[in-house]
Amino acid sequence: MIVLVTGANKGLGYETARRLIDLGHRVVVGARDADRGHAAATALGARFVQIDVTDDVSVRAATDDVTSHEGRIDVLINNAGVSEGMTPVDQLVVEQAQRVYDTNVFGVIRVTSAFLPLLRKSESPAIVNVGSGLGSFARTHDSDNLESKVVAPIYCSSKAAVSMLTAQYAKALPEMRVNAVDPGFTATDLNGGRGVQTVTEGTDAIVAMATLGPDGPTGTFQDRHGHVGW
Ligand code: NAP
Repeated sequence: MIVLVTGANKGLGYETARRLIDLGHRVVVGARDADRGHAAATALGARFVQIDVTDDVSVRAATDDVTSHEGRIDVLINNAGVSEGMTPVDQLVVEQAQRVYDTNVFGVIRVTSAFLPLLRKSESPAIVNVGSGLGSFARTHDSDNLESKVVAPIYCSSKAAVSMLTAQYAKALPEMRVNAVDPGFTATDLNGGRGVQTVTEGTDAIVAMATLGPDGPTGTFQDRHGHVGW
């Protein structure tokens, strides 16, 4: 299986790549920074492709690069993501939202559109969108959940958009499996290492959704314990 992971130079993306390589799959390590991407790919024994998900030119060049080297992909993992930090709500500015949405939301659309032709060359294509429980209306309204205590309007709404994009792509692409995952609160640079899970725990759902067979579900939102309420 040939898998492209965006934002694979560190954190959950790197661990996803490591685990999929361990399982015998061929992983293309996507990263926006050439030095960080090359270093990660070298450590993993994988091939690096430069891809900044906010940049049309970069995404197009990445598509050309994968077309000439791999010729297809079986799984696209839209993992690259950023957060806005903990800005008080009365200090939010549109530019901040645009920056976060450009990666977390428009990046998913940009990369998915660009790589659909290469996914269509696969016998069993799949897309895994890395969303978040913080984008779940069910979780953020349930006072028993940690997610209900967090106030981060831009990040949370960007991940809610990832959920709906997943549901819509799943309807539009019945020939593929398109699922969203919530890694769970995992210690990475995104949260200054405050997450309570290891990156291995945090990638359980990503790896599971990436390695589903052709009969696997589509249009679902899952974490390492099972289904997540939208
Ligand atoms: P991380 O360690 O900060 O990694 C984020 C990755 O995304 C890095 O490789 C980063 O590259 C890359 N990236 C950011 N902007 C990019 C762009 N424009 N183009 C390409 N790559 C870009 O964070 P993480 O926790 O592993 O996050 C991975 C995904 O999981 C994100 O979508 C995040 O929202 C989601 N998530 C995380 C948690 C958690 O608790 N950690 C929970 C739920 C969901 P650079 O190194 O160049 O910045």
